[in-house]
Amino acid sequence: MKLHYDEETEKFRTELRDWLSKNQPTKAEMDAEPPKSSAHLPDWARAWQLRLFNAGLLVPGWPKELGGRDATPIQQLIYFEEFANIGPWRAYNMQGVQIITPSILDFGTEGQKERFVLPCLRGEITWCLGMSEPGAGSDLAGLSTRADRDGDDFVINGQKVWTSGAAEADFCFCFVRTDQDAPKHKGISVLIIDMKSEGLEARPLPELTDRHHGDFNEVFFDNVRVPASNLVGKLNDGWRMAAGSLAHERGMLWTGQCARIERRLRELVELGKTQKGPDGKPLNESKKFKEELGELWTSGQALKFMGYRGFSKFARGEASPEHSVMKLACGEMEQNLFLWGAEVTGPRSLDTHHKRVAYDAPAPWARQYLSSFSYTIAGGTSEIQRNIIAQRVLGLPRK
Ligand SMILES: Cc1cc2nc3c(=O)[nH]c(=O)nc-3n(C[C@H](O)[C@H](O)[C@H](O)COP(=O)(O)OP(=O)(O)OC[C@H]3O[C@@H](n4cnc5c(N)ncnc54)[C@H](O)[C@@H]3O)c2cc1C
Repeated sequence: MKLHYDEETEKFRTELRDWLSKNQPTKAEMDAEPPKSSAHLPDWARAWQLRLFNAGLLVPGWPKELGGRDATPIQQLIYFEEFANIGPWRAYNMQGVQIITPSILDFGTEGQKERFVLPCLRGEITWCLGMSEPGAGSDLAGLSTRADRDGDDFVINGQKVWTSGAAEADFCFCFVRTDQDAPKHKGISVLIIDMKSEGLEARPLPELTDRHHGDFNEVFFDNVRVPASNLVGKLNDGWRMAAGSLAHERGMLWTGQCARIERRLRELVELGKTQKGPDGKPLNESKKFKEELGELWTSGQALKFMGYRGFSKFARGEASPEHSVMKLACGEMEQNLFLWGAEVTGPRSLDTHHKRVAYDAPAPWARQYLSSFSYTIAGGTSEIQRNIIAQRVLGLPRK
């Protein structure tokens, strides 16, 4: 079997690489002011997002007027692979670009589209996503933050938690309960809430890794008034959006994860040449090192090709159950990889633990290991992914 891309696709890759080499932010810019959170865009990050938008490279599968270029599925695959290999992210306010904007395009009024879509894509406004609550995470339908209609407004009371970027975001795409008596999936709506509203307070929560200190927040709503015109979609129809929101673009995220896994494994190969083990010999002379590396490499490649197989089905318009497995498998693979990287580098893995790290620095293994736990929680925990695979892919009974 010969695996290669056709000439047109390779041309796209070359052009993309060329564009990126000329347009991506410099290391000095990024190191001087790293984003404080996923909703904080320093000037360089706003300018970068705008350059991507203008070049049709922010969301390449979308039409030109939305910062895309109607890229084919295969070009999108190349795009995500290439972005995983450069330092800067393609957009720092991912929730806004990847989840909320598509939801507004699908469900919002014309007025909401006009007010929020292009400003977000051009990096002029940022968003946070208000779903999880202390009593509602995996079981989002159990949320209890309430919105009661009062004249032309809704009045919000309650609390969200783990809200990434809430302290910096301009707006929150917030899931609230609008019917207290309906069955729990049926009484939920979505409101756009201005984060500067009176009665709203975002309190940063420190993170284990100190990464983006302040990225996580608790958000408290004390009689916050929101104009009824900020309702997205129909009243009490929010559940449909919850399923839709999280599905947006998830289909391609594995490409970035697989490329990242491969890059870090190559770093370990290089480390093996210079780093000495406890016996004083170079690591790559150690049987254990070679075996572990071989196993991780094989698993990484198997995952990548499973992703490609799912992708080719998806591109032909067929169902691709492989993708249900990718989030689970990539998240757990990264965790194993970073743990092993930390073991191999020993105390040196802690070197960069508390520092903001230059974007092309070698992996801060210990910090990435701690951080990797979030990959198995955010956007649906590994246990929930296993439930989904069991029930929807394998067709097993619920109990
Ligand atoms: C990096 C990161 C960013 C995040 N950003 C946001 C954000 O911006 N906005 C937002 O709203 N939320 C955000 N979250 C929260 C995230 O969506 C929730 O943490 C996630 O949905 C899990 O909910 P929970 O933490 O309440 O855990 P719970 O749902 O309470 O789960 C606790 C444990 O029980 C297990 N469990 C629960 N139900 C089942 C079941 N039915 N079967 C088997 N096991 C089960 C879970 O797998 C988990 O191990 C973020 C989380 C992370 C890690």
